[in-house]
Amino acid sequence: MISFRGLELHGKSIWNHRSIERALETANRYGLNALVLHESDFTTEFLYPKPLFDPDATWEGAPARRGENALQNNQAYMRDILARAKRAGVEVWIENIEITFPDELLEKMPELMIEGKVCPTHPYWAEFLHAKYLDLASTYPGIRGLIVSAGSPEGRASLSQKKCGCARCATTPLASWYEFLLSAIHEALSRKGLLMAVREFSYTADHQAAIAEAMAKLPGDLISCMKNTPHDFYPTFPDNPLIAQKTENPKWIEYDTMGQFYGWGAFPCMMRADIERRITSARGNGVDGVLLRVEWERVNDWWSLDTPNRMNLHAAAVAARGLRTTDAELFRDWLEEESIDIAPASEAIAMAFLADTWDIMRKALYIHDFVFNDSSRFPLTIRRAWWSMRSKHSLGEWFPERRADMDLDAGKLESYLGEKAEALASLDAWIGKLGAIDADDAKKLPFIAGILDFRAYILGWQLTGTLCLLAEAITREAMLAERAAIRERLKAAIDEARAYTARLETIHGESAKSHHNVMLADPARVKRLADECEGLLLPL
Ligand SMILES: [Zn+2]
Repeated sequence: MISFRGLELHGKSIWNHRSIERALETANRYGLNALVLHESDFTTEFLYPKPLFDPDATWEGAPARRGENALQNNQAYMRDILARAKRAGVEVWIENIEITFPDELLEKMPELMIEGKVCPTHPYWAEFLHAKYLDLASTYPGIRGLIVSAGSPEGRASLSQKKCGCARCATTPLASWYEFLLSAIHEALSRKGLLMAVREFSYTADHQAAIAEAMAKLPGDLISCMKNTPHDFYPTFPDNPLIAQKTENPKWIEYDTMGQFYGWGAFPCMMRADIERRITSARGNGVDGVLLRVEWERVNDWWSLDTPNRMNLHAAAVAARGLRTTDAELFRDWLEEESIDIAPASEAIAMAFLADTWDIMRKALYIHDFVFNDSSRFPLTIRRAWWSMRSKHSLGEWFPERRADMDLDAGKLESYLGEKAEALASLDAWIGKLGAIDADDAKKLPFIAGILDFRAYILGWQLTGTLCLLAEAITREAMLAERAAIRERLKAAIDEARAYTARLETIHGESAKSHHNVMLADPARVKRLADECEGLLLPL
């Protein structure tokens, strides 16, 4: 059994005690033993920190920290969460990104800014972080530990952002800088008996190597925490190479059950097989902690506890306990939790469909395993679609032998278009088979009742995939011979996309879809891609 089994809240639900109660109940039900509260700038929300800022200071025109009543509220709220979690027998961990700091710090220490940019290598940061984490440990003794992303480009200041142009930043190796930050935090936390996990959140392989290099020089009790796949939660990617790395540090892995890259649970996607394989393999590599995300900070009012993706959370919790389950067991349990009572024959058909959903989602949202989707949404522009696959979320960055897959030629074009058509054909075949489900039972299952929304989503992927692939093909010198034919296919694809956009706008106008569904199957994005493609046809 994996000893640390955390449920990670990563969004607004952290600030709602009803959501906290629900998360704690879920943790108890699924055998998870930790609650992880994750916000990028979280500590700034409930620490001043002391003694840098005096909470009792009288105002000299302004409070020590802006919004002192909110800070007082958040402090009381944190204590309440800690008490609730303690009653539920669940540990509480804080997760954030460093360096983060309140704005007032820049007024107190103006030397932290160099030519208008925050300098991440200023020696004062060690002192600041040390004081902040001593304050955290003293003010909230119930917190078990900290999971910190040090140096991510998503931090408020980071050397990896390459913003500050000072000589120190230019000459400080990334690994030394990570060591500088992490040792200051670790010294403060370990002095007070808190544990610390360092989250590797690298966009590129060289940044990952720098974190690993820094960890090798730091104390062995630091936990090394990593996503199950490199950079982000892409289920088509091989395992994060760091998982197999030999190290004296304890290792934890993270898995996203909200479904940032597989349809958010707005559309069904059973990931049990992937979850089981990855967690079992990680255990074989000495991993002793799993962190299961149920929410994504960029989307409000949405988490896997309220979608069929809760089955994925359940699957991961079972795998973390070293046990095995089946799609059928997960589905049965989910039906019971949702108080849905359907005939065994309906259950069997719906379960078989669920087991096939990842294959449909994979072929639709990815191009030959490359991340074609924009966090499950259609690409914003053609340029961004290719930038996502070749650069931002690049499979080739981590597995260079795959880079050439993105050099389109006639054979690859047909293969990649075929993948999209297969996704749609597979779903259409299922829509036929799902007709055998009793009509009353079908209404009770949200992912069957909403199957036409799922079809519209998958059709959108087929159309946007076709537009983006043909738009790339028409500009490639290597495909000059096919250009005239591609041009005709692109014209037809634009017409199809326009008809789809009009239908989808009507559907959205006539029914009250949640903003999540509209974001995922967004006609405006398809229209933009069609407009862009039309622009490409003009000069030819
Ligand atoms: Zn600098």
